[in-house]
Amino acid sequence: MIYADNAATTKISPAAKQAMLDCMEEYWGNPSSLYTLGQKASSCLLNARETIATCLGAAPGEIYFTSGGSESDNQAILSAAHSGAAKGKKHLISTGIEHHAVLRTLEHLGTKGFDITLLPVGTDGILDARDVAAAIRPDTALVTVMSSNNEIGTLQPIEEISRICREKGVIFHTDAVQSAGHLPVDVRKSGMDMLSLSAHKFHGPRGVGVLYVRKGIPLEPLIYGGSQERGKRAGTENLPAIAGMAAALKEATERLDSTIPYVTGLRNQLIEGLSEIPGSRLNGCVQSRLPGNVSFCFDNIEGEMLLLLLNQRGIAASSGSACASGSLEPSHVLRALGYSPELAKSALRLTLSESNTKEEIAEIIKNVREIVEYLRNI
Ligand SMILES: *Cc1c(COP(=O)(O)O)cnc(C)c1O
Repeated sequence: MIYADNAATTKISPAAKQAMLDCMEEYWGNPSSLYTLGQKASSCLLNARETIATCLGAAPGEIYFTSGGSESDNQAILSAAHSGAAKGKKHLISTGIEHHAVLRTLEHLGTKGFDITLLPVGTDGILDARDVAAAIRPDTALVTVMSSNNEIGTLQPIEEISRICREKGVIFHTDAVQSAGHLPVDVRKSGMDMLSLSAHKFHGPRGVGVLYVRKGIPLEPLIYGGSQERGKRAGTENLPAIAGMAAALKEATERLDSTIPYVTGLRNQLIEGLSEIPGSRLNGCVQSRLPGNVSFCFDNIEGEMLLLLLNQRGIAASSGSACASGSLEPSHVLRALGYSPELAKSALRLTLSESNTKEEIAEIIKNVREIVEYLRNI
């Protein structure tokens, strides 16, 4: 099988798996217990927190462990909305191309009296930071803009948006789930107040993530109970998953210097090959793009059929986001780029990792070309 759906999830790395096994076999106590076994677990938790903080340029006290990207996004947005509302600020700003973990949370707040502005992006899938500056009002509580898009891979100008929000005294959150472990992430340099990431998008385990919250930014719990995570996220820590995530992020971060050029090379090879298919178009900006993301639309093609036939030939790909497949709705991201519903439904997303090879890319190009021709002829 050729796996080209790394934006949906990634295969766990041997280092992450080993860290999880070590935890389950040796550090299986409850980190809150006072006896030695508990304290061993507690120091394992501390190590993981320090490792992750180092990878992100944060302090350990700014790291909160969660159940993944969706929970981190929910907590960041709900917390900022509620602390804003307490000061009479009920305006929230985001974009039309966010992940549903962000969009649905904002939609929910919209039914609770919050005013939501969803900024449009250009046809290249990139937000103009000046639009953020223009949209901020005296009652704006939060700006949330993803670092990189999960469907079309476009990178957003988050450093500029951070600067604008800082100047205007507005909290800035970014969903960095697709960036963490794939591009350098430095919260001090980039200046965001809150950042979400998820382990299973960078070869860590499923069901675990991080919410980074800058010191001094208020954080409200989403889950109430015990005093884990400094009272901000109750529940006995999922230590094996947390240790696995730390090992995966450390490994991914240390290898960026080699993985970024390698994966970018594969991506460019794939973009070139697919561009030669008549009636094909690349979705999103070609330069400002995640190293492993290739997203195409094809005139007069049903994306679902393309995926099924690729699967028959042993190629795992996706139409857009894994969460949206199975639904008949065309991608909200491609619609936001101005695509017709028909064109949006022809989308093919191929997301690569360092495990892919040049030979696999050539194989993908050959198969997509043949299937597109076949589907247009029937
Ligand atoms: C996968 C993903 C999420 C959700 O993360 P989970 O850990 O699966 O909940 C959120 N945002 C983006 C951009 C994603 O790609």
